[in-house]
Amino acid sequence: MAERDGLIWHDGKLVDWRDAKVHVLTHTLHYGMGVFEGVRAYETEQGTVIFKLREHTQRLLNSAKIFQMKVTYDLDTLMEAQKAVVRENSLKSCYLRPIAWIGSEKLGIAAKNNQVHVAVAAWPWGAYLGAEGMEKGIRVKTSSFTHHQPNITMCKAKAVGNYPVSILANQEVTTAGYDEAMLLDPQGFVCQGAGENVFLVKDGVLHTPDLACGGLDGITRQTIIQIAYDEGLQVIERRITRDEFYIADEAFFTGTAAEVTPIREYDDRPIGTGVRGPITEKLQKIFFDAVTGKVEKYRHWLTPVA
Ligand code: PMP
Repeated sequence: MAERDGLIWHDGKLVDWRDAKVHVLTHTLHYGMGVFEGVRAYETEQGTVIFKLREHTQRLLNSAKIFQMKVTYDLDTLMEAQKAVVRENSLKSCYLRPIAWIGSEKLGIAAKNNQVHVAVAAWPWGAYLGAEGMEKGIRVKTSSFTHHQPNITMCKAKAVGNYPVSILANQEVTTAGYDEAMLLDPQGFVCQGAGENVFLVKDGVLHTPDLACGGLDGITRQTIIQIAYDEGLQVIERRITRDEFYIADEAFFTGTAAEVTPIREYDDRPIGTGVRGPITEKLQKIFFDAVTGKVEKYRHWLTPVA
């Protein structure tokens, strides 16, 4: 990743990709307190747009607030930075990675006065769980690693230090031949995927774990809930057991990287008939139409980069 042409926004300036570096004594590198976002830009007939830019940028600032990290750039500046990165790299569609971290002035747990740095990078990134998975669905396995307990980890924050358990879970199940991991909360209820929120469909109704489980307040999750309501579908947020997923009619993951990815198998049991279900397909289509500017009523979700 480091050896590329292009520009990265680094503390207020666009710098050459290869020069966007940090020191080895960077506080975040040692202690894992940093916050980040995953954002996508899509190509539309009206030019390239960033999906829900304000919501993602606000979540970044909220994550920083949770950790009392003093980001010195305001919402508008950070939104402009993301637009500039897409534009100046001439990207038509891409993934964006804003990140805020604590600098290297002082090492040790207490480093309240260290500078908080911000960078934004962007690069092309296709279907996170594979193009085939988007159509056929993926195979998901419950990980042996439990999801964070919300009073140990700040689960509302999209934080650097929250991710080792996601990596462990993903490594565990992909080594065993599955596509993605599901994590259960400390009480054993389904929480979320390693980097995705999750929904099931039963008798035409959508169900998704409520966020008390510690799952991330996903922006794609919010989007799918909105689209479902607009389509007259009922959505219930509640605690869900893994065996409810086993007997669901359909299931799917949502996330900025994963977008809307159907689940065709969970813990070696086919979900429904083992193919992408009709409600999943419908929501997926509306989602992709919305992010690519084809749905008038959802155009306000899109910010042109030009
Ligand atoms: N949960 C986790 C752990 C994630 O990393 C992500 C991706 N940001 C999500 C859920 C989905 O969130 P969003 O739809 O905002 O990308």
